[in-house]
Amino acid sequence: MSANVIAIDGPAASGKSTVASHLARLLSIPYVNTGSMYRAVTYAVLQQKIDISDEAAMKELLNNMQLEYKADEAGNFSLSLNGVFLKDELVTPEVNANVSPVAAIPMVREKLKKLQRSLAEKQRIVMEGRDIGSVVFPDAAWKFFVTASPEVRAKRRLDQSRESYSSATLEEIARSIAERDRIDSERPVAPLKQCEDAILVDSSNMNVEETVAFIAERIR
Ligand code: C5P
Repeated sequence: MSANVIAIDGPAASGKSTVASHLARLLSIPYVNTGSMYRAVTYAVLQQKIDISDEAAMKELLNNMQLEYKADEAGNFSLSLNGVFLKDELVTPEVNANVSPVAAIPMVREKLKKLQRSLAEKQRIVMEGRDIGSVVFPDAAWKFFVTASPEVRAKRRLDQSRESYSSATLEEIARSIAERDRIDSERPVAPLKQCEDAILVDSSNMNVEETVAFIAERIR
């Protein structure tokens, strides 16, 4: 199962989603963004106003939630929650601010790990996240840890989501990214970290094409 997986992990706004999706296109295989799954759970938590410290309510939410990764109308592999494809709803400042505490909950991680593993059963895929090489697929064929300096990451995030962040300064963005990384790195279950057998890719001074080429060369 793991032999099918090219795992790409790294901190927030490191450019790994863009790199992973370009790489998947280059290799003509599907790309799975696991951050969107944690964001979808967070979106549902916010919509239903659930207190995340209420274990019974969280359990009920997870049991009743139908989360699927399937082809959308355009044929792209996308995430659907209870039959509805989600996109912009997943990248609001509110979801950004709440996703790391939700992702630190063990039962949330257990549910999403199952979904992630099931996606690699039948096909080769590029899967991107925080713990793909360390926990979800420790035997992945390839593991990359994509990072960039904090300044470069804040700038990239600002460029990427100018609309939802129109009033925010670079400093505020940098602070919120740093806070997410802190929670993601310090949580007891599946923390963000570079595995020993992952190839480090520092994209601070590389554009998307160069970063994809660097990774593709290693795979070939
Ligand atoms: O990749 P993205 O920034 O969209 O991920 C959003 C959040 O989801 C991360 O900050 C992290 O808390 C969580 N996440 C995770 N494990 C993954 C992917 C994302 O905990 N494999």
